[in-house]
Order: sequence, then C-alpha cells, then structure tokens
Amino acid sequence: MSFEDKIRKVVPYVPGEQPKVEGRMIKLNTNEFPYPPAPGVREALKNLDPDLFRLYPDVYGDPLREKIAEYYGVDPDEVFVGVGSDDVLSVAFMTFFNSSLPVLFPDITYSFYDVWASVYRIPYELVPLKEDFTINREDYYRENGGIVIANPNAPTGIFEKDPSFFEDILSNNSDSVVIADEAYIDFAGASVLPLTKKYRNLLVVQTFSKSRASAGLRIGFAIGDRELIRNMNNVKFSINSYTMSRAAIILGIAALSDREYFKFSVSKVIETREKTVKELSGLGFNVLPSGANFVFCSHKEKKATDIFNRLKEKNIFVRYFNKPRIDDHLRITIGTPDQMDHLIRELSIITGE
Ligand SMILES: *Cc1c(COP(=O)(O)O)cnc(C)c1O
Repeated sequence: MSFEDKIRKVVPYVPGEQPKVEGRMIKLNTNEFPYPPAPGVREALKNLDPDLFRLYPDVYGDPLREKIAEYYGVDPDEVFVGVGSDDVLSVAFMTFFNSSLPVLFPDITYSFYDVWASVYRIPYELVPLKEDFTINREDYYRENGGIVIANPNAPTGIFEKDPSFFEDILSNNSDSVVIADEAYIDFAGASVLPLTKKYRNLLVVQTFSKSRASAGLRIGFAIGDRELIRNMNNVKFSINSYTMSRAAIILGIAALSDREYFKFSVSKVIETREKTVKELSGLGFNVLPSGANFVFCSHKEKKATDIFNRLKEKNIFVRYFNKPRIDDHLRITIGTPDQMDHLIRELSIITGE
C-alpha cells in the first residue's frame, strides 16, 4: 500500500466565497450580520492587554462559558463553547453519533452535516423534506443513531414554529441524542432551550456568527444536560484543549453584554427581511417564508445561475447551490436597507420587471 493509499480522502464542505474585490462590493452570500458588534466589543478590544497572551486560556473557555450560562439561565456545567458552532457541532457529532445505526437529518439542510458524518465514518440517512420544504416530524420516529435538525433550517430559512415539533421528536427518540442547530433562532422566535431541563438527550447549539455580528471571532456554544457537556469536553480535551483564544473569550463576553443593542439590531434585520420579501415577490420571485437573516427564492422565468452570474458581474454576491431540488433557488443574505435597495434595483433590470 502506497502512502497515497493511506491518506484520508474526503470531499470537503464548501463555504460561501469570501471575494477579494477592490472597491464596492455587496456581500450577501454567507449570512453575516450587516451591522457592527455591540459597541462594548470595540471598548473591550481597546482595553485588551497583550501581556495576557503569554498565558494559555482556560480549557473550558471560562469566563465566557459563565457569561453564556448567566445569560441563558443555566449552570456553567451545562454549557460548551467552541470555535464557532461548526467546531461545537463537529465535537457533538464525534461524541454522540457513535453507533452502527444511521444518524438522521433532512436531505436539504446545512451541508456540513454529511461532511462530518463522512469524515468521522458515521452512517447517516437523508430524510426528504416535504414538497413545500417543511419537515415531517413522523419521519424521525424510528430507530436511529442520532438526529440533527437545523431550526430555522438552512438554506430554506423555514422555521418550524409549533412548540410541539421538537418535543414530539424528543419524546419519540429517548434512545438518541437530538441536536437542535439554532444558528438563526434569534431571527425567528422561541428557542427550544427550556426543553433541555426536561430531555437529557437534547443538545441546543447556537452561534455568535449571525445575530451577534461576530463571524470573524469564531464563537459557538451548546447547552444541554451536564452529562452531555462533560462527554463533549472529554472528546475536545482528547483533540485540542485550548480551542478558545483569550481574545475570543474577552470579546465574546462583550458581544453578549448589550441586550438593548442586540434586540435593536436584530429587529432592524427582520424589518429589512420583510421588506425584501415583498420586493422580491413583486419582481416575480417565489420566496419561501423565512425565520432567518436570509431568504431562499426562485424566479418564475429566469434561471438561478443566470441571475447569480449577472449579480456577480455587478459585485453583488449571493449563494447558489448546485444540488437536486434546490438548483433553481438563490439564497440571499439580508444586508442593510441600502444594500438591499441596490440588489433590488439590479434584480429589476435582470428580470425585466
Ligand atoms: C452558519 C451556520 C453554522 C455555523 O456557523 P459558525 O460560524 O461556525 O458558528 C451552523 N449551522 C448552520 C445551520 C449555519 O447556518
């Protein structure tokens, strides 16, 4: 066997492009937040003492973990922090999906799930969404190695808002860990966090990358029963103990410390989203109902790839997925009102409306 044959070969996740464009660009392709982080983050950054960086950070990410615990009204032992929720989800996959039974997730969802399953050799089965891209909860009432559901889902943006949705899946799956990926929950409605008190097998994962305007800081977290969290930490300590930098810990606390700014800036994005949905519909787009900071839409005549390329020529970047069932759709992040006005102007030219 050659060394080439011994290499682990994987098909990687492909993130949205970070274009290197000179001059004006409108970047609506990776669901980043259009406004700056809370003002306290700038202040905390100014006051950072570089001498701190001589020392390793806390292995648990304390005191950020304590801040998150206080914010969400749980115990610090019920919180896990990681380098973005991608890191948190990856550790969760490795920790909880460890049987020969298939892990279940929708056929159309965050495209990192099947990549982690493949790289960790976890068997999985894709569960088709319904025709309208909603989830049929009964499809998850069967033996499995675990379940992961993004709510709101990506890239559809659809929010399963019925409070019994997760509870039904949990009560039918007491033998598996169920992961709720709530990357977009702050743009949607109520989190299933309170259910972690009742269901010891529920792990709720959230991120600072979207609603907290901090994709570049790389902070994500999970909340669940302390036994789940303890096992995740044991796996993490077996790979890389010091994941959270001292800078991320300090700035993360600042990003979480301003509830007023958070509420105000998130509500502005939601307001812009609702206006954008109306305007896109007026241009002949079919727009799925969105509980996220993006919309997922298709045009009644124009091909998604053509629209994508025409926008790119204008330095407006949106996301296209060349995948079955959604290859006629575009995912468009909600930017500032000004950015969305530019987008709509270009789209009205492209669609001839
Ligand atoms: C953006 C996103 C994540 C992860 O983002 P991080 O920047 O790693 O926190 C996880 N799940 C979904 C569904 C996402 O859209």
